[in-house]
Amino acid sequence: MQIVLLAYLVCFCVPSIIIDILQIKYVSFYASKKPIILDSNDYKLAANYAILQRKVSIATHIFEFIMLIFWLYFGINYLDRFYEHTTFSPLAKEWCIVMSFFAISAGLNLPFSILQKRIDRVYGFHKGSATLFIKDIIKSIVLVGALGGILLGSLLWIMDNVPQWWIFGFVLFFTFIIVIQLIYPTIIAPLFNKFSPLQNANLESRINALMDKVGFKSSGVFVMDASKRDGRLNAYFGGLGRSKRVVLFDTLLEKISEDGLIAILGHELGHFKHKDILRNIIIAGAILLGMFAFMGLFTTHLCTFLGLSVSYSNIIILSILLMPALTFLVQPLSNYFSRKAEYKADSFGASCVSQKALREALIRLVNENKAFPYSHPAYIFFYYSHPPLIERLKALGVQDSIESFELDSNMDIESNLQNTLNKGTL
Ligand SMILES: [Zn+2]
Repeated sequence: MQIVLLAYLVCFCVPSIIIDILQIKYVSFYASKKPIILDSNDYKLAANYAILQRKVSIATHIFEFIMLIFWLYFGINYLDRFYEHTTFSPLAKEWCIVMSFFAISAGLNLPFSILQKRIDRVYGFHKGSATLFIKDIIKSIVLVGALGGILLGSLLWIMDNVPQWWIFGFVLFFTFIIVIQLIYPTIIAPLFNKFSPLQNANLESRINALMDKVGFKSSGVFVMDASKRDGRLNAYFGGLGRSKRVVLFDTLLEKISEDGLIAILGHELGHFKHKDILRNIIIAGAILLGMFAFMGLFTTHLCTFLGLSVSYSNIIILSILLMPALTFLVQPLSNYFSRKAEYKADSFGASCVSQKALREALIRLVNENKAFPYSHPAYIFFYYSHPPLIERLKALGVQDSIESFELDSNMDIESNLQNTLNKGTL
């Protein structure tokens, strides 16, 4: 038992906490320097937010480790014993054990979700009411419970009937991910948000012209009422095949100029043009296959090694408990490819309008989302799926050093931006 806990600590828990501490120190160091990109108030606020997020992350890692000890020493055996004398069929028992594990874990993680929402509210991101939060949780439980329950039942059946179950289990989960992508924009997302067709005819025709340029077929441009929960800006192209639709957050429409919006959508279409979505699906598939191979080839022996009974439910629970450590080790690779793709998408987005339009839009996004401009290189290596803003701006034609686009902190951001742009430094 101790060896597994030690491996978890050495490979995942301790490095994650070290990276968080490095990031906290790095952000604190730059927080005391002259602000760049953000005005001085927002710069401080962004630094505090970034530091607080890392502190929550450290607490989460420690909590996850305690939970691992709890499950390995008591929890799994307790669940086994709890369902031992029920009259359910063996597969139904296994299903109940895993579902109980999910329910207990979700319940124990709830304080962290509430804490995150509270932090977001303090920093002005989270706008939703407590009623909306509770409604969201209930909807998520029903949705995840129903879909997860069906998926788990199918996996248990495969494990019970197919010798190389981990290969077929992978096929089942991979197919499930594709189906979710297909139905997400039209069936799942509308459960949580309202989507209305874009009312701006001029903008819509510009977006349509942009989509024609790269041969992107979509079922329409929609505005999502994101502001009812969160003030941050975003846009996405959801779905696959015919179900694809362009979704603009209402917050984005309010805050970004039309040119900026086209440049951002151009960036997203750049991903489509460069087949990044296909590449992401292939990478996700490869990671999923690796996880199922781990589950199928190692977890059975691991159960024996840990003194747990070898059952389908214990194989699944053990894999889920150890998955964050495996993800942590493989994510730098997928993030590396993702960051490279972002530069290419930026360059396409800029070509749709101008470099200046995309730069302005990116700066506006960072301002509204209060993203701190500096991050420790180790933090970027492990967690950044997008390059840091400063690097993206440099790739978009900023030749000077970072200092050259320091902003006058006494001015509001709009004039700051205009002023800096007029000086020709951006
Ligand atoms: Zn992108």
